[in-house]
Amino acid sequence: MASLTPPSLIDLQDLRLDDARALLEHAGQDGLQEPGESPLRYLQRVVNGLCELSLRDPLTGLGNRRHFRSVLERSIEIVARSGESVLLLLLDIDHFKNINDTHGHLVGDQVLQAVANCLAGCVRPMDTVVRYGGEEFAMVLPNCRPACGRTVAERIRRAIESLSIAATPQTSLQVTISIGGAYAPEWVRSTADLWIERADMQLYRAKSNGRNQVYLDLPQEISVSAEEKGLLFGHLPLAEPAGLDSVDSDAPPLPHRVSA
Ligand code: GH3
Ligand code: MG
Ligand code: MG
Repeated sequence: MASLTPPSLIDLQDLRLDDARALLEHAGQDGLQEPGESPLRYLQRVVNGLCELSLRDPLTGLGNRRHFRSVLERSIEIVARSGESVLLLLLDIDHFKNINDTHGHLVGDQVLQAVANCLAGCVRPMDTVVRYGGEEFAMVLPNCRPACGRTVAERIRRAIESLSIAATPQTSLQVTISIGGAYAPEWVRSTADLWIERADMQLYRAKSNGRNQVYLDLPQEISVSAEEKGLLFGHLPLAEPAGLDSVDSDAPPLPHRVSA
């Protein structure tokens, strides 16, 4: 998995004195302060560590929902500027409640960890895998051409299907996963919520069509919403092509069907 990068460092000026003292005292007990390291540098290191922790899911070690939001927002900027194809996948374990009910919550946790490891092993270092919540995961796959999206998602689905999870020495479990995906509309500044909503609609289709399936919203099928048009063009009149040039001279004309 790509390493987690804190979205921004906490400015030490913003820390209340009491917070800073508590951090220093706590960290000092661990004897981690390096010889000759100034208290300020030490404190910055502690704060950086806390920032990274705040982006991680403690059960699986994957990124958490906060990390996911910041990756999505960064990706939206890249797509708007460069038209790169970025695929968002939402992945939900099928009938997971049965596993908890049959084998107990601790085994359920083991299954979540095994699925998380498997998902992290399925993708490239530049990709992001997070635990979105409960038994749901999400992936952001930059530079993933639409022609390859289905192959990648199917490969992930099959990897989970063939995973054998040793819950106890006597019991090994198998699970399946449903996957819904959506490409960010190219050359458009979308929003994280709209993008997630599109992928979620596909996940819903995968669930209602029998589970253990992949459904994707491909770029040519996406209709750009009024909200996205507003975000891209601001106050410029959409009807005038000159407006396009003045927004982003690198961008080709909008390839999407634009809905009213
Ligand atoms: P579907 O195929 O429709 O997705 O069904 P499902 O059973 O997977 O989905 P449902 O939403 O009914 O149940 C999800 C379960 O996940 C319920 C909840 O108790 C369990 N769960 C959520 N977080 C955790 C966790 O951290 N550990 C464990 N063991 N279970 C969790
Ligand atoms: Mg769910
Ligand atoms: Mg589920």
